[in-house]
Amino acid sequence: MPTSVNCPTCKKEVIWQASSEFRPFCSKRCQLIDLGEWSEENHTISTPLTPEQTLTPDTIEDIEALLAANQEGFFKE
Ligand SMILES: [Zn+2]
Repeated sequence: MPTSVNCPTCKKEVIWQASSEFRPFCSKRCQLIDLGEWSEENHTISTPLTPEQTLTPDTIEDIEALLAANQEGFFKE
């Protein structure tokens, strides 16, 4: 009795075996869709601050340190 999983993208049953090349996905298409969503999510975190984040004194210090470091590099150029 082979083990089967459900494709994370389309929920289709996928038999867990060597020939199921894209397991746990049912197909390359579903695998790419999942990877695409994952990388899109990553792109949205390209800005240092998201609206969900609140500014704490630590965060502000970090930003100021980062800005100072960047300015230093800028003036050296
Ligand atoms: Zn699928």
